[in-house]
Amino acid sequence: MRTHTRRSTRSRPRRRDPHGRVRAGARLRLPAHAATAGLVAVLAVLTVFSVTAAVTNARAASDAEQSALVSEWSEQAERSLVRQVDLVDDLALEPDEELRAEYDEASAATRAAIEEMGAVAGADEEIAVREWLRLHTRYEFAVEQLLSATATSPGIAETYEDVYVDPHHDALEALIRDEAKQHWDRANESLAFVGDVQQVLLVATPVVFGAGLAVVAWFAAILTRSRRETVAQAEANRQQALHDALTGLPNRTLLRQRGEVALAGAESGSVALMLIDLDRFKEVNDTLGHAYGDVVLQAVADRLRATVRGSDTVARLGGDEFAILLPRVVDEEAARQLAGRALVAMEAPIEVDGVSLDIDASIGIAMAGVHGEDVETLLQSADIAMYSAKDRGLGVCVYDDALNDHSPERLGLLGQLRRAIDNGELVLHFQPKIALPGAQVCGVEALVRWQHPQRGLVPPGDFIPLAERTPLIRPLTRYVVDAALEQCARWRDAGRDLGVAVNISARNLLDEHFVDEVEELLEHWRLPASCLELEVTESAIMADPERARRILTRLAECGVTLSVDDFGAGYTSLAQLKDLPVRQLKIDRSFVAPMAADPSNAMIVRSVVELGHNLGLTTVAEGVEDQATCESLQAMGCDVAQGYYICRPMPADALEAWFDATVGLRV
Ligand code: C2E
Ligand code: CA
Ligand code: CA
Repeated sequence: MRTHTRRSTRSRPRRRDPHGRVRAGARLRLPAHAATAGLVAVLAVLTVFSVTAAVTNARAASDAEQSALVSEWSEQAERSLVRQVDLVDDLALEPDEELRAEYDEASAATRAAIEEMGAVAGADEEIAVREWLRLHTRYEFAVEQLLSATATSPGIAETYEDVYVDPHHDALEALIRDEAKQHWDRANESLAFVGDVQQVLLVATPVVFGAGLAVVAWFAAILTRSRRETVAQAEANRQQALHDALTGLPNRTLLRQRGEVALAGAESGSVALMLIDLDRFKEVNDTLGHAYGDVVLQAVADRLRATVRGSDTVARLGGDEFAILLPRVVDEEAARQLAGRALVAMEAPIEVDGVSLDIDASIGIAMAGVHGEDVETLLQSADIAMYSAKDRGLGVCVYDDALNDHSPERLGLLGQLRRAIDNGELVLHFQPKIALPGAQVCGVEALVRWQHPQRGLVPPGDFIPLAERTPLIRPLTRYVVDAALEQCARWRDAGRDLGVAVNISARNLLDEHFVDEVEELLEHWRLPASCLELEVTESAIMADPERARRILTRLAECGVTLSVDDFGAGYTSLAQLKDLPVRQLKIDRSFVAPMAADPSNAMIVRSVVELGHNLGLTTVAEGVEDQATCESLQAMGCDVAQGYYICRPMPADALEAWFDATVGLRV
């Protein structure tokens, strides 16, 4: 991906919820809780209403019953008293034992009725009862006086009756009658109240229950709606769980699910899975910011979507990685054509805030039934094919067993290489570099070869890329640095002061221990750091520019010289190059070798030389194959030349012979 900045104004990054989740859960749960609480409140009100009504009613009924009983016993007392009076009248006329017994009976009945009344009325009437009994006792006493006077002196008796008996009787009777009336009234009042309460209940009960039912129905509606919203929310969350928040495309999980469905109903060879990776997307994110990165990803998503049919699935797997699932594709060629169309669709520059971004991508294709039987294997195969497309700059690559690092053949080779490092089967050839003008040898580049027991001398291109994909590159680089420094120390001992350059890989720039190892080896061979030069490619730096910068800075601080190898082949941003502690630019041999025949290559080399000098860097041209190239490089002001024209890479002893033979070589 290349960027052409026209304007430096950058859009402020759009504020986005990192998960894109709708945070409505709490808001929706509230009505559900309120509805439940409301329901409970309505039921509580109904219960309180019913209980209060029942209790009030019961209490009023019991009051009425009590008042009626008090009245009844009062009336009973009154009746007995009247009977007593009648008997007193008869006894006053003529004493008779039978009548006397009847009178005693009536008197006892009066007292009993008064006491019963007191028992029914309880504490309220305690004083009244005591008063009635006292009056009754005095009445009886007056009656006894009257009866005994009747026998002796009827005149006194009459007076007695008027003065003692009648007033006591009248007072008692008035009290009892009054009491009876009062209680009848109270009983009637209570009964009337019960009636009123029942009237109210008759009207209020249906009203309150109706209102309660309405409220319950209302709350039920809220609950139902809230449940419906919860279900909708759950569905939305499920959608979100299966889609990428930024582009809205299906995510890896949904791709897998759809892949499984497609495979279940597919004939062999009719399902294809493609993996698409944007080249150098990280660079856009790192140099221009995530807001730009997001716009690029959205644009890519739209373009990919527009390339496929509705039944195909475009998914974003994360970062700058996309996938396309073709559930019904005719054959591998049709899949390849679609991948080509996808690349073309992505080619048009994407404009973001006046910055024009060119998208390059690499696509790997895997066919079901041929390159994998299940989604997981297809994803792996497409991934391997995609990396191969990226490595080889092919754009599109269909999976092939030969690409697979994990194929038995590759795994076997890795095992052999591991043993080769331990057994010292790796050998170094050295290629001299000469300073222009003057042709003084100013250093050598160490280039590794594998002295394979069966295959003979294996070139680095056959095993370095494989080692670079595994941690094996670390011991390999250590081995080369060690062997190169050993040779350098030997030359120094022999009076030949030559710096040695070693190629290092991206993984070495991610390895925090690498700097310590280099320092340790320099110390071991008792060499100053200025003897060692490390060549690192642009792509190795760009794999993780921040980390690379950290490690390169530490190396430069040790005194090691750093060169950017194969310069011009990649797209290192000049701003980044300027900030790196590198001292040399090695112009890629693909520009240098053909420059004598091709003026455009010569122009590129010239501008790189100028650029290097502007940045204060030494420029080295590699791949110098003829005298004309060497002369024009010198004319351009290039500082150092390296190539077959000067000397092929060769073992150390052969190179020593070359040194001796070419002293004073002039270009
Ligand atoms: P390189 O670093 O660009 O090394 C220069 C390559 O160009 C060498 O190939 C060399 O033989 C070749 N060359 C030199 N002069 C000329 C010329 O005039 N014309 C042409 N056409 N080629 C020329 P070699 O030795 O096959 O190495 C290939 C690549 O392997 C190297 O490219 C480097 O990237 C890698 N490599 C070699 N040794 C090591 C190593 O020890 N570690 C690592 N990480 N990579 C290594
Ligand atoms: Ca190199
Ligand atoms: Ca090179």
